[in-house]
Amino acid sequence: MSLKAFESTFYEILSDSPLPNGHIWKLQPLKNASFRDNRHWFEVLYRTRASYQCNHGHYWQSSWSMILFRFHLDVSECFGRVRMKRFGQRCNKCINDNEYHIGRCDKEQVWYTVQRLLLNILQRCYEKRRDCDVDMEEYIIPVSDVPNGRFGGIAHQKNFCEACAHNRCQKMFNKLTKKK
Ligand SMILES: [Zn+2]
Ligand SMILES: [Zn+2]
Repeated sequence: MSLKAFESTFYEILSDSPLPNGHIWKLQPLKNASFRDNRHWFEVLYRTRASYQCNHGHYWQSSWSMILFRFHLDVSECFGRVRMKRFGQRCNKCINDNEYHIGRCDKEQVWYTVQRLLLNILQRCYEKRRDCDVDMEEYIIPVSDVPNGRFGGIAHQKNFCEACAHNRCQKMFNKLTKKK
């Protein structure tokens, strides 16, 4: 359901301002998160804010709602692919909740994330920026309105977080956003 929001925003923005050379781009879910096979794909990780609900009606919010995008342009086919993975969180009030629930982002957050993604595709696949000149490089653009946790935010529940389990969360975020 939430993928739909990202999809429609993706195609909406693309139809207004297409990427160069008439290339067609498609956004699809990243199935079986095989994080190893990432050669020739760029990877971007975004931190967003989302609200969650488990199957028993518990509700929580998190500012560590991670979204992973992988993208790849096949120039000879004039075709670009984006794969998207939203990491879920388990409920910490349910005993042994074994399901990762996907958070709900508001419209603005979806819009902002997709805009940044497209900018990134433009920079990496078309402008071939020097700082982007590697097959795969991970980095994170923090969403500006993510609170830094001081305003009533509880500490991130690492054990309940799918992104943490895949090392695509706090630890990596702190590493990548560290001032050089
Ligand atoms: Zn629950
Ligand atoms: Zn996490």
